[in-house]
Amino acid sequence: MLQNTKVCLYPRDPEEAVRILSEKGKQALVVAGGTTAALSKDPNVSTLVDITRIGQDRIEHKDDQWLIGCNVRIQQLAEHAGLAELYDGMLVDSAKAVGSRPIRNAVTLGGNVVQLFRWSDPPVALFAMDAEFDLIGPEGRRSLAADDFFKKHPRKVLGASEILTGVRIRKPKQPCGGAFSKYARTAFDLAVVDAAVCLGLEGKKCSNARIVVGATRNVPWRAIAAEELLNGKRLTSSVIEKAAIAARQAVKTADTVRTTREYRQQMVEVIVRRTIEQAAACAKEQ
Ligand SMILES: Cc1cc2nc3c(=O)[nH]c(=O)nc-3n(C[C@H](O)[C@H](O)[C@H](O)COP(=O)(O)OP(=O)(O)OC[C@H]3O[C@@H](n4cnc5c(N)ncnc54)[C@H](O)[C@@H]3O)c2cc1C
Repeated sequence: MLQNTKVCLYPRDPEEAVRILSEKGKQALVVAGGTTAALSKDPNVSTLVDITRIGQDRIEHKDDQWLIGCNVRIQQLAEHAGLAELYDGMLVDSAKAVGSRPIRNAVTLGGNVVQLFRWSDPPVALFAMDAEFDLIGPEGRRSLAADDFFKKHPRKVLGASEILTGVRIRKPKQPCGGAFSKYARTAFDLAVVDAAVCLGLEGKKCSNARIVVGATRNVPWRAIAAEELLNGKRLTSSVIEKAAIAARQAVKTADTVRTTREYRQQMVEVIVRRTIEQAAACAKEQ
């Protein structure tokens, strides 16, 4: 509960939002969908800065890339016909995996990415698709590749008074397959394991594999050893099995209220194997 909040401001563009945030410093809290911001108890916050009127609420296709504004709601992603064609719909599938429909109608892509929880779904797909993240702050605009953006928690990557304005995803240049899977106890529950896989094909051999695992560490991570086992090889079931085992061996996790460490590790192997199989099938269909 934000007990000391007195004002809510509605900047009209990203520059105005940054100016207000710079002026107010720790007294200001960015609000987008509000689903997590509403739970803040920070006594320093006197000003809410609602960024949902700064624009950045469109999904656009330009040249060879998709641009998704930070204020796009997760349900918009889940229903988008164009994005359903990109990497075999893995971003759409990750959006459909977020909570229930009322939650998806409220949550924004920007809030989902910046307010990353270990079980957050769309960031796992964005990381595997090698998305780029556009930021604006007092020093101007900058873009970060997914590998840099998810090196640590996005809150630590964003500077003071900096906001995420959107995400860009390039269309793959080579035949490619993509898949996203969430494993949870029920349809609405938080993930026990998430996996997202993008596989390129050169002839009959795999190239540029990106395998990202979510829900086992504070930020999603690339299963590099597993990727190396796939690159340059034909995607046979024994190669895929070895990669899934390598992903399990890289898991560092602990017991939680949802599951034991051992069960989650085992499920990483299962979910990564199935997700690679699905991405491989999509790649071969092209
Ligand atoms: C019941 C429930 C179930 C959920 N289940 C899932 C799930 O299964 N999977 C999943 O992935 N998510 C799930 N979520 C969503 C997730 O937990 C967060 O609540 C959500 O992602 C926050 O998005 P928001 O737009 O509401 O952000 P807000 O709550 O408005 O903002 C959160 C914080 O992020 C920062 N912020 C927001 N936008 C920006 C921006 N553009 N730039 C810089 N900073 C920004 C602000 O500091 C803000 O304080 C669930 C949420 C709820 C309430």
